[in-house]
Amino acid sequence: KADAGKAEAGKPESGKAASAQPTLRRALDDDMLERLEELLIASDMGVDTALRVTANMAEGRMGQRLSTGEIKTLLAREVTRIMEPVARPMPLYPKKPQVVLVVGVNGSGKTTTIGKLASQFRAAGKSVIIAAGDTFRAAAVEQLEVWGQRAGVPVLKAGAGTDPASLVFDAMTRAEAEGVDLLMIDTAGRLQNRADLMEELSKIVRVIRKKDPSAPHNTLLVLDATTGQNALSQVETFRKLADVSGLVMTKLDGTAKGGVLVALADKFGLPIHAIGVGEQIDDLSPFDPEDFARALTG
Ligand code: GDP
Repeated sequence: KADAGKAEAGKPESGKAASAQPTLRRALDDDMLERLEELLIASDMGVDTALRVTANMAEGRMGQRLSTGEIKTLLAREVTRIMEPVARPMPLYPKKPQVVLVVGVNGSGKTTTIGKLASQFRAAGKSVIIAAGDTFRAAAVEQLEVWGQRAGVPVLKAGAGTDPASLVFDAMTRAEAEGVDLLMIDTAGRLQNRADLMEELSKIVRVIRKKDPSAPHNTLLVLDATTGQNALSQVETFRKLADVSGLVMTKLDGTAKGGVLVALADKFGLPIHAIGVGEQIDDLSPFDPEDFARALTG
């Protein structure tokens, strides 16, 4: 929560009021609504959500003379209303180990996010183990080890091509034996062969459940905000492959397309646990709906 000030959605906040000039006001009409819709669609909010946001904002206000600042405030209020229910940190349960399964397509930021989360948990005084469940990508395992070192957390790995489920079994055994607070499990994100991936993920989940029927306690889907509307189809796909319980949106620092979060919230209502705002270890912030809405509509 202390990091809330870092939350940003690609655009710098433009909090300055146009103090010296007389405020320009325009009547809210269909023409203006259409332009607002286009702006929201350009932020990757998607047509349906953009139409709904502008319609809600205009309700009872058609013909009113509004300044740009007032319009932004009204739009931000509508966006906040959609985002508030999904802005929830990842829930933690008293159980040990807490099993956090992390899924998402390759390149979405899974490894980075696991490193950042591990570091935050460590800072909160929790013990963490990371399992490098994408046993096929040697580079992914190496990256994870680098992040493990940064976060001061051990990374369990297996030889290339080892069955990820057997690595996860070993990781569960070790986490239980050592009384570790959290076990974070990285997974493969090859969507080229969905049947294989589904089999792999469901086998991992079966092994976890055998050890602890209440686990995995969280299944995080990591999404790259710069992929825009593509994120919607990734949610659909991964919900079929795994029991996704929450989202982490990465790369919000590098995009003006953060509107896709609104589309996601509107369509799926899955909690957004955190947002990635850079490549460094501290660049993971809680999702703040008001900051986000102001940045998006600013
Ligand atoms: P994975 O294949 O899903 O494990 O993805 P990685 O964690 O390796 O991330 C892919 C790339 O995205 C790397 O270059 C990361 O540094 C970068 N990345 C991840 N999260 C963020 C973020 O929040 N902001 C920025 N700017 N880059 C990020």
